[in-house]
Amino acid sequence: MTATARTPIVAGNWKMNLDHAAGVALAAAVAGRRSEAAGVDLVLCPPAVYIVPVAGAVAEAGGDVAIGGQNASDKEKGAFTGEVAPPMLLDVGCRYVILGHSERRTLFGETDASVNAKAKAALAAGLLPIVCVGETLEEREAGRTEAVVTEQVNGSLAGLDAAALEKTVVAYEPVWAIGTGKVATPEQAQEVHALIRGLLAGLASAETAAKVRIQYGGSVKPDNAAQLAACPDIDGALVGGASLKADDFLAIAKAFASGTA
Ligand code: PEP
Repeated sequence: MTATARTPIVAGNWKMNLDHAAGVALAAAVAGRRSEAAGVDLVLCPPAVYIVPVAGAVAEAGGDVAIGGQNASDKEKGAFTGEVAPPMLLDVGCRYVILGHSERRTLFGETDASVNAKAKAALAAGLLPIVCVGETLEEREAGRTEAVVTEQVNGSLAGLDAAALEKTVVAYEPVWAIGTGKVATPEQAQEVHALIRGLLAGLASAETAAKVRIQYGGSVKPDNAAQLAACPDIDGALVGGASLKADDFLAIAKAFASGTA
């Protein structure tokens, strides 16, 4: 099972940052320089209200860069004030949607069960979910990383068949590494990525698990991306802070392009 069989995927999670003009400028810059990261799938995940102009800027720049939502409802439509349905994301040009980010889990009470319902709704609409899992510092220090990640993966992906799993991206994001500047060592990350791939094999088969892309997320920067990209089970990155600068985001993507060479 080698990483070379999987196309790396680097996604930028802009969170609740940038305004209209800055988002459009960033998207145009990334799309315009897309060739710097040939062979890597690139995804930009702007705030929902900027998806349309960001998708427009990417199209105008002619870049093959996908757009993703940062969250979605588990409902298809209806009286759910403030929510965004998966078919709506698809309708405005999204291909991916991030689900179960640790900020959604800790600040908005999302659980493995709700993430699972959202993943099923996203897949039913034709979106490719990026499902996030990861342990807190307290859990790691208590030696519970394997147990926590196992529960999150099995719970968040429960009931997905092989075809659905192959469309899904898993993002391993240790909570203690998100936005803290503390990146997991390549050994720490690879160990959990291998665990996740084993869990995916248990949910479907080793053949299916070998096809699923598993991103690492948590303070990925241009200067640590190459080491992570060299790990056999790390197939890309989910990038927060560093995705807000085209130079940094593209440098990270480039590291994953080289990692496959
Ligand atoms: C994230 O929020 O998914 C993330 C990985 O953030 P950062 O890169 O800033 O740690």
